[in-house]
Amino acid sequence: MAAPMFERVALIGLGLIGSSLAHVMRREGLAGHIAGHARSAETRAEVARLGFADSVHEHPQDAVRGADLVILCVPVGSCGAVAKAIAGDLKAGAILTDVGSVKAAVVADVSPHVPDGVHFVPGHPIAGTEQSGPNSGFAELFTNRWCILTPAADADAKAVEKLTAFWRACGSHVDVMAVDHHDMVLGITSHLPHLIAYSIVSTAADLEEVTKSEVIKYSAAGFRDFTRIAASDPIMWRDVFLTNKDAVLELLSRFSEDLSALQKAIRWGDEDQLVELFTRSREIRRRIIEAGQDTDEPDFGRSHSE
Ligand code: NAP
Repeated sequence: MAAPMFERVALIGLGLIGSSLAHVMRREGLAGHIAGHARSAETRAEVARLGFADSVHEHPQDAVRGADLVILCVPVGSCGAVAKAIAGDLKAGAILTDVGSVKAAVVADVSPHVPDGVHFVPGHPIAGTEQSGPNSGFAELFTNRWCILTPAADADAKAVEKLTAFWRACGSHVDVMAVDHHDMVLGITSHLPHLIAYSIVSTAADLEEVTKSEVIKYSAAGFRDFTRIAASDPIMWRDVFLTNKDAVLELLSRFSEDLSALQKAIRWGDEDQLVELFTRSREIRRRIIEAGQDTDEPDFGRSHSE
């Protein structure tokens, strides 16, 4: 059997992303030893029970000691504090990366703590579900999804190459881009849609008082598709909006302008404008399916047998 890509990998944070990485590393034989850390005793006990890590540590320093690859899988707002805590125990030559949904803030918070000789290569797998915690992970999460790396201009080329090979072995395609560009692209593809979903669900929840549960009863009319996104982890998303503030506020003002234009088109009965916009939206959906980023089955492939 071929030698694993890394002798020891440390996963700091063992929720959806951390546990999914552990599962795929096991399946592909990418790590000689998987060491994990989560902050609560409850999560550590659950991970020990599930058995997807070879060792589970109370202190992050113990998990990273001797690791050739350290992956921060904690909410964006916690990355700086974790990096500070582990800095003194990182092995010379190790690759330090993260999976955070925002990159500029992680780079600003983590970089000051990275010791000389440790290669920091920020990353973000564009893969997830609305579930969280160590029970939610699965090995296929990254299959055919993109992972974006945002290395600094002077980053160690070999470290970037090795991390690229790692994500490919996890089933992903890899792109490299600048930090600010990442935050703008993800602002529109992920952060704004989540904000809109949270907002619609909250508006409907207020209306529910008036409509006596009809919002829930008739949710299959469209509303429930927003609730999937709005069921995502509150702490993770609090951190995303607070750390990608500039990009989100810029995109939100453009969204508000477009929404006002739609409002006007409805008020004035501008049929052409409505049809043109709705036709354009269908085209985007078709391109997502062609790119292999969703299924073309009706209703997102939901089973209608029951
Ligand atoms: P999650 O399921 O909520 O898991 C978070 C993990 O981090 C838990 O194990 C938690 O431990 C641990 N943790 C939180 N704060 C910590 C701290 N200060 N020190 C040590 N451990 C800490 O979250 P997730 O969905 O895996 O997200 C993790 C990261 O991936 C986030 O940065 C997120 O932006 C990014 N990401 C998420 C998705 C997605 O769809 N969910 C997709 C791509 C990237 P306890 O359980 O003990 O609290």
